[in-house]
Amino acid sequence: MTKSDYDVIIIGGGIIGIATGYYLTKRRQRVLLLEKNYLGAGSTGRCIGGIRAQFSTETTIKVAMESVDLFRSMEDEFGFSVDWYPSGYLFLAYSEEKKQSFLNILSLQNSLGLGVKFVTPEDIKRKFNYINVNGVLGGTFCPTDGQADPFYVLKGYMLGITNAGNDIRTHAEVVGIDNHKSNSFEVTIHTGEKFHAPKVLNAAGPFSKSVGKFVGIDLLAEPERHESLITEGIEFKAIPMIVDYRPDGCYFIQRKTGQIIGCYTPEVQVPGNDMKSTFEFLTEMPRRIIRLIPTLESVAILRQWAGSYTVTPDGNPIVDKSDIPGYYISTAMCGHGFMLGPALGKLMANFMIDDQWPYDMSEFAFKRNYRKGTEVLG
Ligand SMILES: Cc1cc2nc3c(=O)[nH]c(=O)nc-3n(C[C@H](O)[C@H](O)[C@H](O)COP(=O)(O)OP(=O)(O)OC[C@H]3O[C@@H](n4cnc5c(N)ncnc54)[C@H](O)[C@@H]3O)c2cc1C
Repeated sequence: MTKSDYDVIIIGGGIIGIATGYYLTKRRQRVLLLEKNYLGAGSTGRCIGGIRAQFSTETTIKVAMESVDLFRSMEDEFGFSVDWYPSGYLFLAYSEEKKQSFLNILSLQNSLGLGVKFVTPEDIKRKFNYINVNGVLGGTFCPTDGQADPFYVLKGYMLGITNAGNDIRTHAEVVGIDNHKSNSFEVTIHTGEKFHAPKVLNAAGPFSKSVGKFVGIDLLAEPERHESLITEGIEFKAIPMIVDYRPDGCYFIQRKTGQIIGCYTPEVQVPGNDMKSTFEFLTEMPRRIIRLIPTLESVAILRQWAGSYTVTPDGNPIVDKSDIPGYYISTAMCGHGFMLGPALGKLMANFMIDDQWPYDMSEFAFKRNYRKGTEVLG
């Protein structure tokens, strides 16, 4: 039965809320997680499960490497597989400028211990003979990047929270937060029930801006629509996440279960929480996939859907405390929240207890210059 007093109340049952809840639980905090729908109903259940540490800034690379380690050990930690598989990420450059930017980032990535290699079109052809390298000037490949199933990951974290006696309430929409009493937040859900805790985490993803308004905080975090599709399963060849950086590029990977799953970033962004799928995506995405792997031409598409990226002007998340004592924020994961989630969950859980980060996290600060330090490998 749900109690009403906790150490921490988390708003949002996506990867960020649930991972943070898990690591807070491991630190023996009394946690309540409130989710307005079902776990994974937001962006997390709509993502394609890609995991990489090939980023362009030191903080994101460190966080992502920590996450890869956590994904790798989840089967042991949870006692069941989360379909983690290190298929690698292959980034492709079709312009001198992009090739140069890959080369510039390589030394930072490798100085932090990430084994990224620059690959020529011939190297790519040798390793992945099914890829059409016409027009490719080079790329980078990181064999420790990979994939996992978002639903299994959510399940593992969920069981860790509830088996330890902490509470998750689904279909419980937070409609108000009163922070006028000292050292305690009163969080109200749509039924009128009220819960109390000295600490609250806003992990409401695409809705974090409106949840921030309950306490008068304005977050520079806006949702925009991204579409995705999945094919029928084919023989598993461990096709890596191929990231085609042309203006009409795309990214896709073969799931461990055989299907091809992928997305592209639309030229004109669709702001808001619009979850409509389009015919344009359904016809255009296969063209982009087949251009890279012509042998996939006869593979049937099973399903398409849409979800939100919650974005900031500089492409970095907001992971920090706020000006209101006890009110924390972990949101705006852009297209990377699943992969960064485990490490950010652990980092935030420790931060909420110890009030310190193990390394510089100013890139993700709530109050930062959002026009500086843009992530190049978005
Ligand atoms: C098509 C697509 C493909 C993607 N592919 C990848 C990928 O390959 N790898 C990757 O790392 N990332 C990917 N992403 C991005 C990733 O899905 C997100 O960054 C991540 O899921 C964000 O997690 P979150 O927990 O912040 O948000 P969410 O998963 O959206 O969770 C927030 C939750 O808060 C709940 N909520 C909101 N308001 C309230 C309220 N008032 N009360 C209670 N609950 C509330 C919502 O219902 C929601 O469940 C992709 C996204 C999309 C759309």
